[in-house]
Amino acid sequence: MQNSEKKTLLSGITATGKLTLANYIGAIKNMVKLQEEYNNYIFIADLHALTLPIDPKQLSKNKKDIFALYIACGIDPKKSVLFFQSDVIQHGLMNWLILTNTTIGELSRMTQFKDKSAKIKTANGMETIPTGILMYPTLMVGDILLYNADIIPVGIDQKQHVELTRNLAIRLNNKFNTTYKIPEPYIPEVGAKIMSLTDPSKKMSKSDTNPKSAIYLLDDPEDAYKKILKAVTDSEGKIYLSDEKPGIKNLLTIYSALNDISLQESAEKFKNSNYGEFKNAVAQCVKEFLIKIQDKYKNALNQIETLSKEGAKKASEVAQINLDMLLKGIGLR
Ligand code: ATP
Ligand code: MG
Repeated sequence: MQNSEKKTLLSGITATGKLTLANYIGAIKNMVKLQEEYNNYIFIADLHALTLPIDPKQLSKNKKDIFALYIACGIDPKKSVLFFQSDVIQHGLMNWLILTNTTIGELSRMTQFKDKSAKIKTANGMETIPTGILMYPTLMVGDILLYNADIIPVGIDQKQHVELTRNLAIRLNNKFNTTYKIPEPYIPEVGAKIMSLTDPSKKMSKSDTNPKSAIYLLDDPEDAYKKILKAVTDSEGKIYLSDEKPGIKNLLTIYSALNDISLQESAEKFKNSNYGEFKNAVAQCVKEFLIKIQDKYKNALNQIETLSKEGAKKASEVAQINLDMLLKGIGLR
């Protein structure tokens, strides 16, 4: 049951692909840091993974991997309610209730919708944009309101969807007399936007089609080492912090996040190094991090079945209470 003295945290990762180091630094690291302080609901957003076509076998593997990786990264199932979104059936109904309180205009203004739909248009030369990418923000709004969460640890790319949630919580409370909390995004100071290794003007994404652009948490540690050595930087040869040097800044960010130091401290440490020495140091710490995680991941795989059932049961109880509040307000109960 929830500890009523603590605030509530909710966070999820879509099962669209293999988890990246950006997902760890941008989101999971904060979930781990905050799990003592909050009532935590951490889930695998397997329903969100359906927004774009996905191979069933791949989806099934992705979701299990994410569950085990959460544990490997430090999410403790005794301190956090850890569950698969599709095991908690309240998410589907909540989505419909929320969807019917939004407009097509506000959903089509979402940056992620614009970005993702633009890519599809270019790829096919015609409009075949799946409805899921327009509507997935309302599923996310429902995810948050079902647990009446106070804070949402996310990378910067999800900030707009948390803002949509805030607007909807206010709208529903005004219209239907509900008492949903107005959630705050919790964005890391270092690492809110880790960039692609092959194009540091783009964010690192698990759905990027170029596997060299990202470090995956289940990458062979040696391959990951090599990817960092090959990361695109610039030809200046000097290490300092500047927005004009996104490749170097990105590697400094990765180093800082994995060593829990500030960006300035990292820049100071490497100010006299050449790019080769610097990249080796970053590559080494990424490699050591992956070895540590992967060891724990293997053990965690065996616990998924039991832990996910326990998690879903606890999550459903709270989700039903917050769903009932809206059903009642709307006049369906
Ligand atoms: P996709 O390409 O499928 O959208 P993704 O890598 O963006 O995958 P999500 O499942 O959308 O991952 O997001 C999971 C969490 O990781 C979110 O909190 C998101 O803000 C965070 N995140 C995603 N990409 C980055 C990034 N490049 N830097 C920091 N955080 C990130
Ligand atoms: Mg994303």
